[in-house]
Amino acid sequence: MQIVKHINELQAILDNKRQEGLSIGFVPTMGALHAGHLSLVEKAGQQSGFVVASIFVNPTQFNDKGDLERYPRDLQKDVDLLEPTSCQLIFAPEADEIYPEPDTRQFNFGNLEQVMEGKFRPGHFNGVAQVVSRLFEIVQPDKAFFGLKDFQQLAIINEMVRKLELPVEIVPCPIVRETDGLAMSSRNMLLSKEQRLNAVLISATLFEATNKTGELNVEELTYWVINRINENEYLNTEYFEIVNSMTLQPIKSWNDPCLKVGCIAVQCGKIRLIDNVKIDN
Ligand code: AMP
Repeated sequence: MQIVKHINELQAILDNKRQEGLSIGFVPTMGALHAGHLSLVEKAGQQSGFVVASIFVNPTQFNDKGDLERYPRDLQKDVDLLEPTSCQLIFAPEADEIYPEPDTRQFNFGNLEQVMEGKFRPGHFNGVAQVVSRLFEIVQPDKAFFGLKDFQQLAIINEMVRKLELPVEIVPCPIVRETDGLAMSSRNMLLSKEQRLNAVLISATLFEATNKTGELNVEELTYWVINRINENEYLNTEYFEIVNSMTLQPIKSWNDPCLKVGCIAVQCGKIRLIDNVKIDN
C-alpha cells in the first residue's frame, strides 16, 4: 500500500493504473477510521481494480471551530487499519495541496440543504461539496463510495454529481453499527464512558420507532422519539425528522408514497452524533 501526499505523484500512479486497464474506486474519509470506513473500502475492492482512500480533515466543512480542533487525527493508526484491506493507495494531503488558494465556490442545493444538517450546520454542505468535487477532480475515480450514515450528505453528493455532470458513479454503503447498535463514528471515541453507555439510546429509540407506525401518526412518532431521547440526562436532540428519502422534506402522513427515513442529530455533551433509520409502514 502506497501513502502519497502530493497530487502530481498520485496522478502519475493513477495514470499508470488506468493504462493497465484498472478502474479506480475511491473512498474519501477524514481519517480516525473504524469498521464503517473499512466496509466502504471492502466494497470498493469488490467493484474496482484499484482502490484509493483519502484521509483529509477538511476545514471548510466545519462550522464549529471546536469540533474541528477536537476531531481525532492519527495517520499511523489509519495506515495500520488500511494495510490488510483492499486499499492500495492512501492519499493524505496537507490543506494547501487541496486548497492552494481559498475555495470561494458557492454551491446551491436548494431544498436539500435547507433542512436538518444544512439548517443546524450552516455552510457545512458547501464545504463538503468543495472538498468532494476537488477530490474527484484530483482522483478522477470511476466509482466513489459513501456511507448511508451521512444520509443527507449522500443526497447532496448525488445532486452535485448530477448538476456538474461528473463522470463518477456514487455507490451508497449501509450503516455499520457497534454491537449495541450505536452507529459507528469517528466522534464516538471522544465520548466519556458514561456518555458512550447512554448514547446507545439513540439507535435503540430509532429501531423502536420503526415498530410504532401502526399506533402513532408522523407527528406523534416524531415527538415520541425526541421526548424519549431528551429524557436521558446525557442527550439532547437537535432534530429528528421523518423525511422523503429523495427530497429530504418532512413527510406529513404515512400515506405519502415515498421511501421514508427518520434522521436524527443528538448532542451528547460537546459531541454531536447523527444517525438514521428506514421507516417502513
Ligand atoms: P468521515 O470520515 O466521517 O467523513 O466518513 C467518511 C465516509 O465514511 C463517509 O462516506 C461516511 O458516510 C462513511 N461512514 C462513516 N461512518 C460510517 C458508518 N458507521 N457506516 C457506514 N459508513 C460510514
